[in-house]
Amino acid sequence: MATILDGRAVRDRRKAALSEKIRGYARAPKLAIIQIGDNAESDVYIGQKISFGQDIGCEIVYARFEKERKESDVVEKIRELNSDGSVSGIIVQIPLPGGFSAERIVEAIDPRKDVDGMHSANVKALAYDLPGIIPATTRGILTLLDEYKIGIAGRKAVVVGRSALVGRPTALALLNRDATVTACHSKTENLSQETKSAVILIVAAGKSGLIGAEHVSPGQTVIDVGINVSTGEKLEDEVPKRKLSGDVRFDEVSEIVSAISPVPGGVGPMTVLSLFENLIEAHEVLAGGI
Ligand code: NDP
Repeated sequence: MATILDGRAVRDRRKAALSEKIRGYARAPKLAIIQIGDNAESDVYIGQKISFGQDIGCEIVYARFEKERKESDVVEKIRELNSDGSVSGIIVQIPLPGGFSAERIVEAIDPRKDVDGMHSANVKALAYDLPGIIPATTRGILTLLDEYKIGIAGRKAVVVGRSALVGRPTALALLNRDATVTACHSKTENLSQETKSAVILIVAAGKSGLIGAEHVSPGQTVIDVGINVSTGEKLEDEVPKRKLSGDVRFDEVSEIVSAISPVPGGVGPMTVLSLFENLIEAHEVLAGGI
């Protein structure tokens, strides 16, 4: 049986350290969360961020816009938050309703406050291996590997998924940590041959159970980023008792590999933690070290 990479345990340990740090600040770091329209899944994620942030002593401001509002109203709000010296981080919950451009909206955020690491200045910093803010999920994956002392430099890492939100930044961040990286996607020929050759396998495809025994080999570390909500009659009915599954068939893969992150309880908690680690760093930069 593989070692379980327990994201909840790591989150709780580092959460205590974050609270301690925040207690030493002259003022609480403030995170602004912007939501546009209704989305039951987004409500759950925002709820988790608000409760984690408040637990560690951050201040959260939440602004919700109806989907009928104009994109320029959202941009106007972001500009206001950019110039508000008490705000250290701004995030826009994605996905956005039709008619809104995530690219245009995110570009309005001051890159120093872009704690989701999605602004082009931060994307460029990651691509060039320069200081910047990296997306929370990517940061969470690296922290999980580091906490379990799983070496990255020089090793072969295979990332399944190339989205701007997860796969691509994770592949770049692993490259910046000197891994030898292969990025796989839906057009990859012979996926199992690629995934079997990995020392570290990161799966972020959003396809429940995509990776099974036939895709892995002994000695590997497998990080399952996927969060797939089982389909019910209505998402609204299901969200309160959400049934989550990852992209990896945990039962069969955990019999073969050395280490594996579960879903839930793996990357999910690390993502929330990492958002606030990004916020604290942004706060320190903006407030000149507090
Ligand atoms: P996207 O749908 O944007 O991207 C999925 C990627 O997977 C694409 O690059 C796609 O390839 C690739 N892919 C899809 N099917 C296959 C396949 N059969 N074989 C190989 N590659 C495939 O999803 P996201 O990146 O936004 O999210 C991925 C998953 O991670 C989702 O389940 C999401 O819920 C979860 N997630 C979890 C987070 C966490 O905190 N744990 C945070 C964010 C996301 P192509 O580019 O060719 O279409």
